[in-house]
Amino acid sequence: MKTVVLKFGGTSVGSIDRIKKVSKIIASYKKKRYKVVVISSAMSGVTNDLVNKSKLISNNFDLAEYDALVSTGEQVSCALIAGRLQHIGLKSRSWLSWQLPIITEGNYSSARINKINIKELNKYIKSGGIPIVAGFQGINKNFRITTIGRSGSDATAIMLAKYIKADECIIYTDVEGVYTTDPRQHKKAKKIKKIFYDEMLEMASLGSKVMQPTSIQDAKLNKIDIKVKSSFAFKSGTLITNSKKSFSDQIITGISSTKNDAKITIVGVKDRPGVAASIFKPLSKNLINVDMVIQNISQNGKNTDLTFTIKSEDLKKTEKLIKENKSISYKKLSFDRNVSKVSIIGVGMITTPGITYRMFQALAAKKINILVISTSEIKISVLVSAKHVKKAIASLHKEFKLD
Ligand code: ASP
Ligand code: MG
Repeated sequence: MKTVVLKFGGTSVGSIDRIKKVSKIIASYKKKRYKVVVISSAMSGVTNDLVNKSKLISNNFDLAEYDALVSTGEQVSCALIAGRLQHIGLKSRSWLSWQLPIITEGNYSSARINKINIKELNKYIKSGGIPIVAGFQGINKNFRITTIGRSGSDATAIMLAKYIKADECIIYTDVEGVYTTDPRQHKKAKKIKKIFYDEMLEMASLGSKVMQPTSIQDAKLNKIDIKVKSSFAFKSGTLITNSKKSFSDQIITGISSTKNDAKITIVGVKDRPGVAASIFKPLSKNLINVDMVIQNISQNGKNTDLTFTIKSEDLKKTEKLIKENKSISYKKLSFDRNVSKVSIIGVGMITTPGITYRMFQALAAKKINILVISTSEIKISVLVSAKHVKKAIASLHKEFKLD
């Protein structure tokens, strides 16, 4: 008998009607004689609402209480699913993290799952029951409730699939799978049948919101194949895997873009050792995430320009930190808050020469100016003016035969 972990996201359990539909999906696996474990997120909107309540109580809300608060949405959805499954004649009950337990380590609101005790679950599954486990939450060594980061139910599902040695882990969501690019940005976007973990990790970190990046890292580390599917439409989804079987010979798998990036250029900084470090030290201390960085080759050996990108919301703070920084001198500081990063992603580029050229050529043909470039083994990113993003995606989508 195969074991399957089914995870349902917020919109999939977003109303009573949705919970009834989801219960039918769960029942269909039972009918196919699967052993089933369900992970649920909170009904959509509920977690946000709880976060807002904590802010109204205090702008310095205790972190441990924050986790105790924001994890409650899952208790509601899990109990409702279990109740509905009982109503249609199946054996089911809900489990909260402390009842198993799911042990986490690390800080409140961003803890990581360390261990899951599956003894009780296994007994219950053997007896024919369907456990409904609350996603997103755990307990720490002080027996206090923790949460594992927004959208963390994905990671709960993957870790549970690991501990229970599931044959399949299916993430049910409100889209049909992972797309070659955001279908709202580009009508010709296509559903990807199979994608490697590393590619998916890049897609997720670069703005494709289908899955939480940490959960993909967990899946990769533990070699858990994931299927992403819609709970709204009966369609095949996307498989996230490392298995090379039946991958097409596509070089580029997907194109992603970011929103709300800002570019900062410091003109005329001294070209000597330690300057870049002095610029970035206060930023890192203030938890400002610097993304792309370029330093021009200095013409005279004395001065150079340094350009980097951050999230727009950090722009004010970054500007202040640079102006207050006594250990650097420069001629001018300039900003651009309307920039976006467009990236092409694909493991195929490791073995295929000429991809960089094709990307730049395609953008040049559309007269799109490239502001900053950064590359990794499986990704090339360019920074462009935000108003060119749609055009850039369309031309790259076509160039790499994803249309
Ligand atoms: N309910 C939590 C959130 O909204 C966890 C999840 O959705 O996976 O972040
Ligand atoms: Mg969610």
